Amino acid sequence: DINFKTQMFMKAHFNYDPLKDRLIPSKDAGLTFSDGDILHILTSEDPNWWQARRVVKDGEGPTGLIPSQQLEEKRKAFVQPDYDYSKSSLLCGLKRRKKKKINYTSSKHKEFDKCEITIYEEVTKMPPFQRKTLVLVGASGVGRRALKQKLLKDDPRRFGAVMPHTSRAPREGEVHGKGYYFTDREGMDEEIREGKYIEWGEFNGNLYGTKLESIHNVTMDGKMCVLDVSPTSLKVLKTAEYMPFVVFIAAPGIEALKRMYEEGRRRGLVGRKGASGHGTIEVKTEHDFYETIQESQNIERVYKGMFDFTIVNDDFDETYRTLRRELDNLSSEQQWVPINWVY
Ligand code: 5GP
Repeated sequence: DINFKTQMFMKAHFNYDPLKDRLIPSKDAGLTFSDGDILHILTSEDPNWWQARRVVKDGEGPTGLIPSQQLEEKRKAFVQPDYDYSKSSLLCGLKRRKKKKINYTSSKHKEFDKCEITIYEEVTKMPPFQRKTLVLVGASGVGRRALKQKLLKDDPRRFGAVMPHTSRAPREGEVHGKGYYFTDREGMDEEIREGKYIEWGEFNGNLYGTKLESIHNVTMDGKMCVLDVSPTSLKVLKTAEYMPFVVFIAAPGIEALKRMYEEGRRRGLVGRKGASGHGTIEVKTEHDFYETIQESQNIERVYKGMFDFTIVNDDFDETYRTLRRELDNLSSEQQWVPINWVY
């Protein structure tokens, strides 16, 4: 059997419900799947419909028809990304429109340009191995920075962090490569335009940001580089070069979020801004908490397919233990990774 030998596995980057599909020849024959599911492609001769088996943890998953890459591409060409300015800068959902071309140019937001439509991503199962980077994604205020700092503090030989660049002049006692890489504004400006920064911002007239290249300084030391970046960076990071383990730290309900915030403040873990640790202590309102939850949902909706693991952070210590356990598991469990990491 020729299909048995090809063994093609695809990770789906969209949700599919055959009952809602007007094109499928027989709704009963369809296979339901979600964004992030792994599908074993059993037959792909038909240009429009593939036969697939959903991969499940134990045993054999269900089989059925799924739309082919080509069919889904055609279908999505009739759909235009819709930007909801009222909610979050990270939301780039899809809305049906009778337009033949996908139009990205109308956007004013840079995040929007990075939202590209992946339909299926070919993946392969790898023997246990450790990733080069740990990427913590999630809403701001959901505890990613505290998790990162605890990893660095508990195991500085295993985990490292990138040092940011700044165009600010060094203060007395500050040296290059300790706390910051000091650089000139023009050079930094140019490199930001060239896309060499994963993240950057301006504060008091100075530029601050993290260079993609700095990740190598950490991984070359044999450490896993811990990053708490915006999910818009996932596209550049999810490559063989950085081999990230992407963990989504999801917002819990409002009560848990409030409780953790108060606890974090007591323990001095939250409310401090800036790489150098000093800054203002923010006081959060009810509205801030709702915004965190909303942002978390938006990130999940748009980037779900790129997560390797999700933890709902309703208890900091428990989340930290789960994170450590999942990282340890990488050394003993087989893993699904994009095929281009291997070949
Ligand atoms: P300072 O100049 O006192 O070291 O830092 C001042 C402010 O710069 C911080 O409070 C923070 O808002 C900002 N900052 C520091 N590091 C970074 C960074 O890596 N990226 C961004 N976007 N801002 C930073």
